[in-house]
Amino acid sequence: MATVSADRQLIDSLARIVGTDNVLATPQARSAYANDQWWYAIAAAAAGQAVSQPDVAVSPTTPEQVAAVIKLANQLKIPVTPWGGGSGVQGAANADRGGIVLDLKKLNRVRTIDRKSLTCVVEGGKVCKVFEEELNAEGLSFTHYPASTEWATIGGSVAARGSGVLSTKYGKIEDHILNLEFVTPTGELVTTPSVPRHAVGPELTQLLVGAEGTLGIITAATVKLHYLPKKRTFVVAGFERLADGVAAGRAIMTTGLKPPVMRLYDADAASHSLARAVETPLEQATLVMMFDGEYPELVDLEASLSARLCREHGGVMLPERIGEVWWERRYVFYYPPYAPELPSIWGTVDVVADFDHIEAVYEETTRAIRAACPAEYNLSLNTHFSHWYEWGSMIYARMKIPTGPADLTEAKELHDAIFQAGVEASLRAGAVMNDHHGVGIRLAPYMPAQYGEGMDTLRRIKQALDPNNILCPGKLNL
Ligand SMILES: Cc1cc2nc3c(=O)[nH]c(=O)nc-3n(C[C@H](O)[C@H](O)[C@H](O)COP(=O)(O)OP(=O)(O)OC[C@H]3O[C@@H](n4cnc5c(N)ncnc54)[C@H](O)[C@@H]3O)c2cc1C
Repeated sequence: MATVSADRQLIDSLARIVGTDNVLATPQARSAYANDQWWYAIAAAAAGQAVSQPDVAVSPTTPEQVAAVIKLANQLKIPVTPWGGGSGVQGAANADRGGIVLDLKKLNRVRTIDRKSLTCVVEGGKVCKVFEEELNAEGLSFTHYPASTEWATIGGSVAARGSGVLSTKYGKIEDHILNLEFVTPTGELVTTPSVPRHAVGPELTQLLVGAEGTLGIITAATVKLHYLPKKRTFVVAGFERLADGVAAGRAIMTTGLKPPVMRLYDADAASHSLARAVETPLEQATLVMMFDGEYPELVDLEASLSARLCREHGGVMLPERIGEVWWERRYVFYYPPYAPELPSIWGTVDVVADFDHIEAVYEETTRAIRAACPAEYNLSLNTHFSHWYEWGSMIYARMKIPTGPADLTEAKELHDAIFQAGVEASLRAGAVMNDHHGVGIRLAPYMPAQYGEGMDTLRRIKQALDPNNILCPGKLNL
């Protein structure tokens, strides 16, 4: 990093690009970027040892300003870490090598809405909830509803390859986007072809999806829109055996039914977190589904066929009201007073596998997580299958230790040991180590195990695009 006088020079140069008010270098301003929502980043910041140590925070208001900032940083070889809502849970947005934190939230315009194609061009720093409310006022929806909708931005969702609660019908973030506008690590402003389906070479748009800021800064996206549904209906079923719930879910997905919401809670998650959320005692594995759409008859038909498949796989139908309450309270449990707080240790091992492996992945991963935590720490583990595909599902294993070791290093060792056990067990059982929270700092050590030979290809792509390694250096283990 540059000397004190060069810092002054840097601040002046940045101010010439984005304006004085959009360059903040005071300790108070920088501490606003001390941590994202990764447990360790929160714990370290609280202990005065923040993982994220930006030297200066810069808030561009146009894509051209982003390009000029990146060109400057590239010339000076200064690290740049993009920051959307800071809601990531893997540590990705932390500026752990100092330099510039590039806050993109002022890049927040809806540029155009095309009502004929049902598409929209929206800037990368737009907060998901604000975007959705603006669209809803026009009878439209983006249908990307992460539980972090109040903080997460469009660019951060694309960069972390996010997934919202409606994903099983409407798709994950990569399915929502037609193209991207982004700034390369050397400062060029690029727009990818305007539709995702074409035969003009590799899909450049998707290279940026899930790259977590390492390959470019997303300044805008053309996204698909939908009409707000005319009807929503709910189906809830209990299963004595989790495996029967998985089989019902597989039957629903492989026969082309499309519930936007499909969440299968194991007995622990059903009796603890789900029962609290829906204010109803539950003992068994429980599948909660929501169906929606423009045509009420079709919605009812999909719901009744799915209920029939549940019954055929041993499911017992539970009151629809449970699903309605789930829908009304679906975000409550991610926020105070329900969300975990220090001195707890918490985190989610979030893995994805095809149907052939999913049951073994569930068994092995949950067993390994439990075994990695000494009994004295009273680990609780609530697991559900929260996003489904035609070929498989993802497993969201949420662990919490009410009170971890007081010493931060010891607490981190315990956290890391649990994650190592969970990730390694899931990989051995045939999973991919993350479905929609990304890699960040937390999972970076496991990238070579995940990719094997492919890691070298990824590193060469990074090297070619970012020869000075300025964008999120070290992230993704690139
Ligand atoms: C309570 C809670 C609930 C959550 N629920 C969900 C959920 O339901 N589904 C889900 O998918 N995730 C969820 N998450 C995780 C998180 O919200 C997502 O990862 C989200 O996509 C991050 O968006 P963000 O704008 O906050 O990005 P940040 O956390 O700011 O950044 C994430 C990564 O993207 C990079 N980045 C940010 N903006 C850009 C940009 N414009 N261009 C390039 N790179 C960029 C950052 O450098 C970082 O690497 C949840 C988190 C919390 C705390």
